[in-house]
Amino acid sequence: MANSRILVVDDDPALLQTISIVLREQGYDVTTAEDGTRMLEALEQREPDLLLLDVLMPHLDGFQLLERLKSDERYADLPVLMVSSLPAEEATVRTLGLGAADYIRKPFRVRELLARIQSQLRNRAELRQAREQVRKGAADLVRAREEAETRRTMVDILHEVTDELSPEEIYHVVARRVARALNTSHCSVVLAKSGDKVGIVATAFEDPSVINYRIQLELYPEIRSALETQSPVLVEDVHASPLYAEIRERWAKQGTVVHIRSVIALPFSLDSAQVGVFFLRRTGEEPPFDKEDVEFANTVIKAAVSAIQRARMIETTKADNARLEVLARTDPLTQLLNRRVLVERLSQEVERARRYDGKITLLMIDLDHFKRVNDQYGHLVGDDVLRDVATLLKNALRAVDVVARYGGEEFVVVLPETPAPGALAFAERLRERIEATDFSAHPHGTFHLTTSIGMATFPGPRTESGEDLLARADEALYRAKADGRNRVRT
Ligand code: GH3
Ligand code: MG
Ligand code: MG
Repeated sequence: MANSRILVVDDDPALLQTISIVLREQGYDVTTAEDGTRMLEALEQREPDLLLLDVLMPHLDGFQLLERLKSDERYADLPVLMVSSLPAEEATVRTLGLGAADYIRKPFRVRELLARIQSQLRNRAELRQAREQVRKGAADLVRAREEAETRRTMVDILHEVTDELSPEEIYHVVARRVARALNTSHCSVVLAKSGDKVGIVATAFEDPSVINYRIQLELYPEIRSALETQSPVLVEDVHASPLYAEIRERWAKQGTVVHIRSVIALPFSLDSAQVGVFFLRRTGEEPPFDKEDVEFANTVIKAAVSAIQRARMIETTKADNARLEVLARTDPLTQLLNRRVLVERLSQEVERARRYDGKITLLMIDLDHFKRVNDQYGHLVGDDVLRDVATLLKNALRAVDVVARYGGEEFVVVLPETPAPGALAFAERLRERIEATDFSAHPHGTFHLTTSIGMATFPGPRTESGEDLLARADEALYRAKADGRNRVRT
């Protein structure tokens, strides 16, 4: 992720220069601005991949700038890393509420700054890649549509075949339309591949109740031949065609009376699971099929197949969109909700509690001396611990509870409908559980870890909003740390 563009905004020229040098050494493409006005100019000129924004600046401060950026949809995805010497409680809550990606406190260590920048750039790259894939899928779809359009000789017939239909429904529509257009009594879709003994009737115009009916292909030489040769088979008269010689003997032996006279089998293939034939038949009372009928049916069916493929592509695009949505909502390391979504959910929960006179308790959970884990066993072990804690939290919660990764080694749990005494007992259990967990530092055995938990309940003194809840819990967490860690404070 070197070459990434970073815009650094700080009113302190010396710090601006230092950060630039450090970031350039890492291969980043750095632009700087000393105030908000210049920042906005720089953004207009070239959008960076990440913005490092000082909070305390004259005129327009970082909060105001952040608010302005996040209300501009051009910059909705731009990760903003806020930097300030304000006390963490105050700044984190405010900046994150306004949509900052992360907050880092001055003075910071270069390693920490670089780690946070890398993590934000990684998130952004993943999000971009997923977006790009979805965009490409949509472009292919448009192209496929245009192609299909030019080939669409059978406009009327295909009108019914829309993107909303499933392949099964499209089989049904096409079978019915072809049957009507060719004035034939029998038209079905048989799914099978070359060499199969059994075919599945996906739909039959003559009998809509026939679905997933199994037929023995040894009785259908035209279907077998169409599957083998992958070209249309036309039998004008089953009572004369050599293809039917064997079957005719069987009919004679069994005394079967056969009303069908002529037959067309048209192979099609959507993918390996959806291959088969469109199977058209006419009785002795109807005129026999000819080459033009084959031509006609083949054109319709080809167009139908492309419609089915289009419908599937749309389904894939929808699934991609859903994946993208998940990606934008979750923290990549732990798969918990990210901070942005937490803030959203929290304000919804607070609104609900306000309306129904309910109580919500919020726990802010911070691992004790987590830096030592990284220092002693390395970052990968640190990452594993964060994942393990995330799993432990998820397993401990009820379905209505919300758990999110709030910061590096900080988690937030929101407990709706839970007044303080119940929440306190729950927080104690969480703390004990984490303390009792054997974390793996493979290959260096296992180790133990403690947590400090800050708790706040809505409604309460100075607690009237989601932001207040976060701020009060953060203050309580600070007290838990100050009182010696490994404890819960309210
Ligand atoms: P305290 O008891 O005061 O909370 O001490 P601490 O060391 O846990 O707290 P501090 O906030 O000073 O340090 C947090 C550390 O968490 C620093 C950072 O290296 C580490 N960290 C943050 N995010 C990640 C991550 O995603 N992976 C790993 N491995 N470490 C992380
Ligand atoms: Mg900690
Ligand atoms: Mg911390």
